[in-house]
Amino acid sequence: MAILDRAKQASVEITPCPYCSDRTSIELPEDYRPVYAYCDCCGKKFIAERLAEGFQVLTMEEAPCCSDPDCRDIEMGGYDEE
Ligand SMILES: [Zn+2]
Repeated sequence: MAILDRAKQASVEITPCPYCSDRTSIELPEDYRPVYAYCDCCGKKFIAERLAEGFQVLTMEEAPCCSDPDCRDIEMGGYDEE
């Protein structure tokens, strides 16, 4: 059963900031929910989202609603417990 657990595990990743391209760390949740992250260098807020393989980072401007944590909450009416 330990093998099944590998895919769902929160992790900390290093990624280039989508704004200033400097390296910063992001914390990904164990699921595919997008989360906000803050650049260590420029301090800007951006979005990090786990993908089937790896992850992606998006600026607030380019993120579609489905990748924006706040926007998702509104669209789903706040009843999404998953
Ligand atoms: Zn930055």
